[in-house]
Amino acid sequence: MQKYKRDLPNNFSLPRRIIRLGELPYNLWWAWNPEAQRLFSHINKTLWEELNHNPVLFLKTVDRYLLNAMTNDRFYLELYDRVFAKFDAYLKSENTWFGVAYPAHKNNLAAYFSFEFGLHESLPVYAGGLGVLSGDHLKEASDLGIPLVGVGFIYTEGYFTQHITEDGWQETRTTHLALNNMPVIPVLDESNQPARIHVELPGRQVVARIWQIQVGRVPLYLLDTNIEDNSEGDRQLTARLYSNDPEVRISQEILLGVGGVRALRLLGYNPDIWHMNEGHSAFLLLERARELVAEGLAFQEATERIRSDSIFTTHTPVPAGNDQFPLWLVEKYFSQFWPQLKLNRDEFIALALHTQSWGDMFSMPVLALRLSNHRNAVSELHGQVSRKMWQFLWPGLEVENVPITHVTNGVHTTTWMAHRLGLLFDRHLGADWLERLDNPDLWTGIDQIPDGELWAVRQHLKQKLFNFANERARKQWLMGDTHPVQIVASGVLLEPESLTIGFARRFATYKRGNLILSDLERLLRIINNPQMPVQIIFAGKSHPADEPGKLIIQQVYRLVKDHNSGGRLVFIEDYDMNMARYLVQGVDVWLNTPRRPNEASGTSGMKAAINGVLNFSILDGWWHEAYNGRNGWAIGSDKDYENSSQQDAADAASLYDTLEKEIIPLYYYERSSSGLPTEWIARMKESIRTLAPQFSTRRMVKEYISQLYVPAFLGSEAGNKSEPKG
Ligand SMILES: *Cc1c(COP(=O)(O)O)cnc(C)c1O
Repeated sequence: MQKYKRDLPNNFSLPRRIIRLGELPYNLWWAWNPEAQRLFSHINKTLWEELNHNPVLFLKTVDRYLLNAMTNDRFYLELYDRVFAKFDAYLKSENTWFGVAYPAHKNNLAAYFSFEFGLHESLPVYAGGLGVLSGDHLKEASDLGIPLVGVGFIYTEGYFTQHITEDGWQETRTTHLALNNMPVIPVLDESNQPARIHVELPGRQVVARIWQIQVGRVPLYLLDTNIEDNSEGDRQLTARLYSNDPEVRISQEILLGVGGVRALRLLGYNPDIWHMNEGHSAFLLLERARELVAEGLAFQEATERIRSDSIFTTHTPVPAGNDQFPLWLVEKYFSQFWPQLKLNRDEFIALALHTQSWGDMFSMPVLALRLSNHRNAVSELHGQVSRKMWQFLWPGLEVENVPITHVTNGVHTTTWMAHRLGLLFDRHLGADWLERLDNPDLWTGIDQIPDGELWAVRQHLKQKLFNFANERARKQWLMGDTHPVQIVASGVLLEPESLTIGFARRFATYKRGNLILSDLERLLRIINNPQMPVQIIFAGKSHPADEPGKLIIQQVYRLVKDHNSGGRLVFIEDYDMNMARYLVQGVDVWLNTPRRPNEASGTSGMKAAINGVLNFSILDGWWHEAYNGRNGWAIGSDKDYENSSQQDAADAASLYDTLEKEIIPLYYYERSSSGLPTEWIARMKESIRTLAPQFSTRRMVKEYISQLYVPAFLGSEAGNKSEPKG
């Protein structure tokens, strides 16, 4: 068999004493280890910031004399030795949580497929929450020692950069990513040619090469069709995320599902279980069926095998939001494929048929639900919604017996928690708190932290956010082509003593970024109260084809620019993971206003919570199970609405009332003699104590293991027989 190489690109010229600095960029372990990042930032902080924390570009660019100077810097060399000792110990450790808890499965392997992975801002190949969840899943799998390999795409144009015009219209700018300046490793064969797989698309073969990103112990393989053998059109297949062209979309999904299986086989992996994060990768089920039928199994036998070891995670609570294709398109792309499964057209279509008001569709989640025995939604409420939504696939079953469970999402703690706060926890929770972070008992220690210390860290993080906004504004201003009012809009009048609310996420209509604008007069009165001013920072992108989403951005932006808002409403353009960290660490309150029950989980509020930021949210997704009356605030109630304008009106009224009567007074009035908002801090502690252990990927991945992966590992040996009917 071919051997494939993953040689680290030899890009840098480094002094001998710190030569290993050149290997650090190529394992994203640095992305969740602040001390490892310090090995770069300490050399030249300004450059590190300027290059958006891209360590490959940084080491290529930084002055050689600065690198040489480090070899005489005692502090730096100690840090260097400590970081690499930690790095080596991490990679070598046999004593992982998984190894200890499940020794019988330590030689098993899980494959994890996702359309996008959000690992770090220097790898802009994610669009939003789904990608960040995939990235956090891989990081946690690495920390816990889960034997796992990821599969996805490297998008050669990345996700777009957002620019807001003076009139508030979102413009999208794309650049071609220079992969050799990114922390990705080319996978090459013995003659130094890229490892390649191919898939059949109508009338042609499309070839993809494979890149690797090493995420701690976990390898992630990313497909890329931008190579000479492909036609111009096919070279663009992996250029962008979430195309609106159904032909591009089905081609991408064939590439991910079918091509992804082939890529793993090519590299010598034979996963025992297959986890599809959302339906985009569900064609992998068909490729696996094709393999088994080619080995001589009947299709029925093949699907029994596949069901037993396949895991499907659904993220979409609205039927129309699910990934689906018209039947003519499926015929065009699969008429060569179904004979290989020994199926006819109708049998093939029946695998994924979803009859909807607008016609028959080939539904990716239906395919995944039918051909996986292990299925989950991403919060408790989303589990209920999903069981109802997909009940028709199990006609004999009561809704509560529909076999879709839930594993509520989490966030990767060290990716999202401010380092300062981590240091505070080191002192008060015990130096090993990270090892035990999903243990609720550990977090009772929060009460021991003196209010003043916690508040001081919060104030520091708030100031950092405002400095960040200011520096972005200054850069924009220096460019010379920005109207002055846009500089005001980007946050230069922010004021550290004022209560500050953050709202940042994709601007999709159901997230209702404009709900807080429903009663403008009331909003302006609230924010401009001279005794108790309030500031709101907005950020987020709309999908380039989402005109209603872009109109919401415009509506927000026009008000932000309005002199009546006094510079207290702010929109920071081009939201990404870097800005997300500043925001979820820096504001006082995190606002979330989705139209219930459309938010499957939501994760940005979890990031805020672990930083001592208080959530103020609709009781949807994760907040439905997280809110306990004392760890933040709820907007609206648990009620279901038939009429969405009634729902919007009720939610808006609740939002203003709670803001005016509870949140603002608590922040400003309940101050101790030393000026600390004691009741507020008590609520912060309650929030961290109750939410940090529960909404971490530590708890989440462990649940995936016990509820889904281990049963699937066992199923892959035994074969599990409960299949959906109908
Ligand atoms: C966490 C995150 C999201 C998800 O935010 P939600 O409020 O959960 O939708 C989106 N984009 C970025 C950059 C993030 O970091």
